[in-house]
Amino acid sequence: MLDIQKRIGVIEKLLQEDTDQSLTYAALECRLTLEYLCYERFKLTYSYLSQDDLKNWVPKDVVKQVSEDVDDNIDKEFTLSISTQPTDGKNFKTKEDFEALKYVTLGKQSALNLNEVHSLWHGVSNLALHLPIPNISSGDLTIYQNKERIKKKVQSVIDFLRPITGNLLMAGSLGEVFSFDCFACGMTIKRPVKKLVSPSVVNCINPKCDESYLLEPSETEKNVDITRRIFKFECIGCKRDLEVPGKIFRELRFNQQLNIVCSSCQSTLELVMRPLMKLVEDKNSHNEQNQTDA
Ligand SMILES: [Zn+2]
Ligand SMILES: [Zn+2]
Repeated sequence: MLDIQKRIGVIEKLLQEDTDQSLTYAALECRLTLEYLCYERFKLTYSYLSQDDLKNWVPKDVVKQVSEDVDDNIDKEFTLSISTQPTDGKNFKTKEDFEALKYVTLGKQSALNLNEVHSLWHGVSNLALHLPIPNISSGDLTIYQNKERIKKKVQSVIDFLRPITGNLLMAGSLGEVFSFDCFACGMTIKRPVKKLVSPSVVNCINPKCDESYLLEPSETEKNVDITRRIFKFECIGCKRDLEVPGKIFRELRFNQQLNIVCSSCQSTLELVMRPLMKLVEDKNSHNEQNQTDA
């Protein structure tokens, strides 16, 4: 877990030096700290969420997706306590039964205001870590940007960081979890049941694995249909089906070639990424054609 007080110390030292370089460096330290704060919360859900599942790498969006797909509490403040009394043999049924026990506090997770993280992360970058694109009235280009504006923004980051005093982070699912093993590598892929409300694509959490799956919850039968996302090709050598994970094509560019070896006859086959033209069946076009003919 990130030592925030130590990070504030590093940033404040640079602020006190008060030079063009030290302020730019302070802005960079701010940006890295904000990224760390977000990514360390994502890291806790590694076993649920593959990097390939992420729709966006912007730090705020990464945490937002963890909240949507895995754990609503990821950006919230809470205190974690544990009971000191043994519970063996007792039958706990209600909330009151649990509340009657004695507890000791383990620690607190601090809230993370994602909109504020995003605004500060953007702010330090825009003010200090990019050169503005020049226009006809912008004057000379400069490596370092306006000192006073950078100082103000860096101070806002310090003010944001200071109250984050929590001593623990917790993420995952406290409820029922749906899981299955990846067809190719055997890695267990998990999703909290309460988050499986609509069809979703999940990628294998093994970074070396190309498999992905479509999960479709069915409301009536209370189960989840799992479909492997693959393309099937007929091997030219032995006519057997070759299965290629769909994810591979996402990274291929126009005209790029992919060699695959058939596991049955050992033929090497070449797949080429090319546009494909198809005729779109249009109900109206048939009538129009008839009218023209008449
Ligand atoms: Zn896998
Ligand atoms: Zn073959």
